[in-house]
Amino acid sequence: MNAPVRIDPETGLKVFNTRAAKASDKITGQGYSVVTDQKLTELPKMPDGATFNAEEQAKYRAFKEARRGAADYMAMEGEFKKYLDDVYSEPPIPREALTDECEILVVGAGFGGLLLWHKLSQAGFTDVRFCEKGGDVGGTWYWNRYPGIACDVESYSYLPLLDETGYIPSMKFASGFEILEHCQRMAQNFGFYKHCLFHTTVEATTWDEASGRWTVKTDRGDRMRAHFVILANGILTTPKLARIAGMEKFQGESFHTSRWNYNIDLRGKRVGIIGTGATAVQAIPELARVVGKLYVFQRTPSSIDVRDQRATTDEERATWATESGWAQARRARFARISEVRAAVLANDDYLAGKIQDFKERKKHDRELTREERMQKQLDSSFRLMEQIRARVDAIVKDPKTAAALKPYYPYGCKRPTFHDEYLPTFNLPHVHLVDTAPRGVNEINERGVVHERVEYPLDVLIYATGFQWMGTSTFNSIRGRGGHSLKEKWETEGTRTFLGLHSRGFPNLFIVTGPQGGGGSFNFTDVIYAHADYLIWVLQTMRERGARIVDVRKEPEDKYAEHCRDVDIATAPLRDCISYYNGEGKAAPGSLAYYGGRQWDKFRIEAQSSLEPYVFEGNSN
Ligand SMILES: Cc1cc2nc3c(=O)[nH]c(=O)nc-3n(C[C@H](O)[C@H](O)[C@H](O)COP(=O)(O)OP(=O)(O)OC[C@H]3O[C@@H](n4cnc5c(N)ncnc54)[C@H](O)[C@@H]3O)c2cc1C
Repeated sequence: MNAPVRIDPETGLKVFNTRAAKASDKITGQGYSVVTDQKLTELPKMPDGATFNAEEQAKYRAFKEARRGAADYMAMEGEFKKYLDDVYSEPPIPREALTDECEILVVGAGFGGLLLWHKLSQAGFTDVRFCEKGGDVGGTWYWNRYPGIACDVESYSYLPLLDETGYIPSMKFASGFEILEHCQRMAQNFGFYKHCLFHTTVEATTWDEASGRWTVKTDRGDRMRAHFVILANGILTTPKLARIAGMEKFQGESFHTSRWNYNIDLRGKRVGIIGTGATAVQAIPELARVVGKLYVFQRTPSSIDVRDQRATTDEERATWATESGWAQARRARFARISEVRAAVLANDDYLAGKIQDFKERKKHDRELTREERMQKQLDSSFRLMEQIRARVDAIVKDPKTAAALKPYYPYGCKRPTFHDEYLPTFNLPHVHLVDTAPRGVNEINERGVVHERVEYPLDVLIYATGFQWMGTSTFNSIRGRGGHSLKEKWETEGTRTFLGLHSRGFPNLFIVTGPQGGGGSFNFTDVIYAHADYLIWVLQTMRERGARIVDVRKEPEDKYAEHCRDVDIATAPLRDCISYYNGEGKAAPGSLAYYGGRQWDKFRIEAQSSLEPYVFEGNSN
């Protein structure tokens, strides 16, 4: 058997064999299936002439204000740390602690890490080491294995490296299990595994000015040095819990959706699920198929748009098999679609390149002002939300339940969801919506959840309470020049980056898909590609110039941060609700990734041609 750490005789580099075995064969599943009832896969007709008038605006405001301050989340610490256990893999493979040096150390083995490896190795950077908390690759798709899990962006545009692996997803919205297998395929095909230290959490990353290296400490006792550190640790990595009085008292089984416990048999049980965000929307219809009783505790409803799931057709398979670069071309077309809904339910003919545009563009006699454009967007968001609300009434039979399931906020303000079986689930006699609006569940006892003095006894309680969003500066302890931490810098100066990838004072550190990393595309893979390509450019430029250190200057960083702030403020009415995207209504403008700006590319191209934002320093050896 291969040793966990050995020297590759060809390259002289250390290589690893630390991928953990699967914990149990019970961990298996699929995403949701094709729905044949056409009524469930269509939105009711667009209401004529509906506008976002003062009365409707007041309704949205009241919905939002009633919830202000209600979100109270906590990290999984102390007795709740158990919810973070890796239930998917056998225990970590024992290995020696490492104290050596590598050229590039990457944190994370999700889409970001896997794509980076492919591009870095192609560009000739091979002394690359990955540290991954989990026991295998996949990131999001390693940790999230709840029943019904699937991507929300069409898989043909979402899954990376389809052209390179020759893989064609089986469904338009592939299941998370299929996506995990594709991650394993990418790792296997491109030699990723031997570069990755699994079950290894980076705990501290500190810049050493004298040597021009980062020191990276992990929970496995490693103390490695690296010229460059790339954070590919994701945006929805750290699960969080709602803070609810008495939660520690509950005597039944409980877990968070991002660590689905397949050892607990849910068949016939009384199950409660707290939260109705994107995860819960996918899991609830599947849960309802097996449990005895299902209580859904909801504070704020999601917008449930149509899914229209379908299998990949034979025609598509045949065409793509002969069309080199089909996935890249499709992803590029997908990226041209800016509206969230269009991006998700995008026209197949357009995406397949059969027609030139995805919608008829209305011609205006004159250019609209910014205010007019905003009003138009608000009106069309309102009309779409009216359709989404009408869909609830058309499907859910109990009027009280239907009323509670209707969301009042602009489309896309909270993460939009897509499902054709979620709403009908509430017509089942054993499924109960417990409307805890606007403040949410506030009591749990030994037996279950209590709301408004009614006790809901449960055998199993599932927390679908989501993740910390964009926590890069908090969940990675990073100390740069002068011993200052990234968290301290952003807390005192506000989030300050250049392109989201550099932050001044943190040389040779690159943040993939972090705050200010560029908005616009609803497809995260697009952002990951753009960031990976940019990083390759930085590293190649440094190689050509003989530079060993790169930092950015203050003015371009300030200018970029200012730009993110301005765009965020200008587009704020479109996201006027309380959501994790805006730090539950508390985030400073421009501090998060999805600021809606389309200028990331413009800033990048200018920087790459002038090199003006960068400070390159010479050979530090
Ligand atoms: C349920 C779910 C569904 C989603 N669906 C979509 C979708 O349809 N379309 C879309 O565009 N996006 C979707 N997303 C967003 C998704 O996170 C991204 O699309 C993408 O998978 C992110 O890849 P990543 O590699 O950047 O991050 P991740 O997949 O989060 O991987 C990061 C990895 O870093 C590891 N890590 C973090 N910190 C450390 C540390 N300190 N030390 C070591 N390892 C660490 C984590 O364990 C993780 O494995 C979804 C997210 C969730 C949670």
